[in-house]
Amino acid sequence: MPYLDHAGSTLPSKIQLEEVAKQQSQLILANPHSHHATAVKTKQIVNSARLRILQYFNTTSDDYFVVLTNNTTHGLKIVAENFKFGQKTHSILNIASVLHGGSSNLGYLYDSHHSVVGLRHVVNGKVNSISCVNEESILEHEIPDVEHSLFVLTAMSNFCGKKYSLESVHRLQEKGWAVCLDAASFVSSSALDLSQQRPNFIAFSFYKIFGYPTGIGALLVRKDSAHLIEKTSFAGGTVQSVDEMSMFFVLREFERAFEEGTLNYYGIAQLQKGFEEIERCGGISSIRNLTHHLCKNALYMLKSKKHPNGRPVVEIYSQSEQFENPDKQGPIVAFNLKRPDGGYYGYTEVEKMCAIFGIELRTGCFCNIGACKKYLGITSEMIQENMSKGKRCGDEIDLINGTPTGAIRISFGRTSTEHDITALEQMIDTCFTEGEHQAQSKPDPMNIESYSPTVVNLFSFPIKSVGSVGRKRYELTARGFKNDREFLIVNDDVTLNLKTHPELCMLTATIVDDDQLLIQTFDQNENLVLPMSLSLKDNGAKLVCKNTIATMDCGDKVGKWLDNALDRQNCRLLRVAEDSKKNFVNDSPFLLINEASVYMLSRYINMEVREILTRFRSNIVVRGLPPFIEDTAKRLSIENLEFEVVDKCTRCEMICVDPMTGEKDPSLLLALRDYRNKQKMTFGIYIRQTNFESGQYLESGMSVNFSTD
Ligand SMILES: *Cc1c(COP(=O)(O)O)cnc(C)c1O
Repeated sequence: MPYLDHAGSTLPSKIQLEEVAKQQSQLILANPHSHHATAVKTKQIVNSARLRILQYFNTTSDDYFVVLTNNTTHGLKIVAENFKFGQKTHSILNIASVLHGGSSNLGYLYDSHHSVVGLRHVVNGKVNSISCVNEESILEHEIPDVEHSLFVLTAMSNFCGKKYSLESVHRLQEKGWAVCLDAASFVSSSALDLSQQRPNFIAFSFYKIFGYPTGIGALLVRKDSAHLIEKTSFAGGTVQSVDEMSMFFVLREFERAFEEGTLNYYGIAQLQKGFEEIERCGGISSIRNLTHHLCKNALYMLKSKKHPNGRPVVEIYSQSEQFENPDKQGPIVAFNLKRPDGGYYGYTEVEKMCAIFGIELRTGCFCNIGACKKYLGITSEMIQENMSKGKRCGDEIDLINGTPTGAIRISFGRTSTEHDITALEQMIDTCFTEGEHQAQSKPDPMNIESYSPTVVNLFSFPIKSVGSVGRKRYELTARGFKNDREFLIVNDDVTLNLKTHPELCMLTATIVDDDQLLIQTFDQNENLVLPMSLSLKDNGAKLVCKNTIATMDCGDKVGKWLDNALDRQNCRLLRVAEDSKKNFVNDSPFLLINEASVYMLSRYINMEVREILTRFRSNIVVRGLPPFIEDTAKRLSIENLEFEVVDKCTRCEMICVDPMTGEKDPSLLLALRDYRNKQKMTFGIYIRQTNFESGQYLESGMSVNFSTD
């Protein structure tokens, strides 16, 4: 699978995981704070890991301490919390864009990760100034003399891959700054030689270097800078002596004083396998060369993409010249895609298309608002205004007034290949340059009430994400059709859905005679019947909690059957516990679609109506309305049943799964996108009943009344 998110986390290799598994199966470790033989062994393993880390950065324990942390963020926070800032004399009102002189200052680059920017609130109250500057302020301007001051320097931007000159370290130090290097992004693809570079502190996470183990990072502290940070509190594992009734405590030696609580010693033992993995790849310098080469090719590919009218398809957020020099540019490209008319495609749309092609990349601002603002031309006012319009980090709002709120990021690592770039190119060619169909003209805004639509098809999906056979009539419950999404398949505790497991579409599930769940495979020769009245306890069921919904396990027999049908291991069928008021529906109880809208798409892409219906997985299909007019409905009634429209249904790559083969083909989503021209790719509406009473039924043939107010 084309994986282009190595800056998010690089992936462990198969060999690496096998080695870890082999080692783990033999390794018995114990709390290194104890004194028995197993504890002593564990302590030795932890200390060997410290030495291995120092060796990796070409230094020794004469020179640097290794404080083991959870991640980069944790390491940075240890520095900020414990840094001896000296005397605070005035309070801070604004973040300065230049460096201040004197005592007690904090500085960082505008192109900093949120974990760095957030430190300002850790030190606020202890410092006289906080400065957010650009690199020129350090390299080209006179730096004012300071004391008791901390500069947190980004070694490499996680937004665009720009490497900041490590000359800054020395220049800042000369003027009295202590420099903490945020090396998280940098070390993932570059060698850091601590015999050459001398930051006072360095923070990073191991999963960014070799993918596994996660949850472990390190803070390296130059021994002659150890006095710059002072621990003023203690916790388990950090003290030599303490009295619980007075304020008396004496801390342990430096590293242990900062390692609060019990370390992740099993994870630490696995670091060795990570370092071996890097060696297997020829060392980090080889990885740097490989990733730089690939990234440059990706940049050229992106730059070459043009619309038929000659306009560029890709807007790139870095200086291209930098890409010639791996000392200035890491293996990351941030960009957005543009329409033939110069407007932008939203990154959410791009991400959906990537999902169809199996391409994994990152979109948004990547926890780096400073870089995002600079490259996308977003202002501080716009951020607050967007927030008031409902924009939140990580949501799907990708354009506001046509301006992108974030970008698309591709990043390379040691397992990347040219194939990853080819896949991306194919995706862009297919979805964003050629073959962009002309949008069909939309229906005029007519009055829905002048039509008399009826219900034609009804579907309930007893097992979530599994196919269904429609029925003429369903009993209603407070949570939708009776038995709708009452079952769920999990595999090793992970819920299976169509997005991640398209093979699910080859199963169908139906409730027969109201008392049996019938599951069929596509070829229909291996059916399974599960009595609905089955006492799950008798079946050795256990109560597990999934998405805070209490569920019952339907037992080994079904599990085995599913394993066989889906060609997996450890599948389990779960059923909502009887007393639970919920089912496994994500959004609203009913999804309604308009048959005419389906016809439109069907004509557009030459796909059978029936197949489109299967892919859209709706509960209720209505006939007798112009296409897409359902989008304007607010309420509706089906005979005496009243419903309100909750939302439009936003579509994703799930509809691209061919129910016959499980393969993905983008044409349906593309058709929807083109039809929707620049709007969200929605199809169908979510509705909720407002006058539920028990004993009600919904039947095909019933008449439907829409209302638009
Ligand atoms: C990933 C990253 C971080 C945060 O790392 P965590 O492991 O999430 O703590 C900080 N800074 C940069 C530049 C990063 O790339």
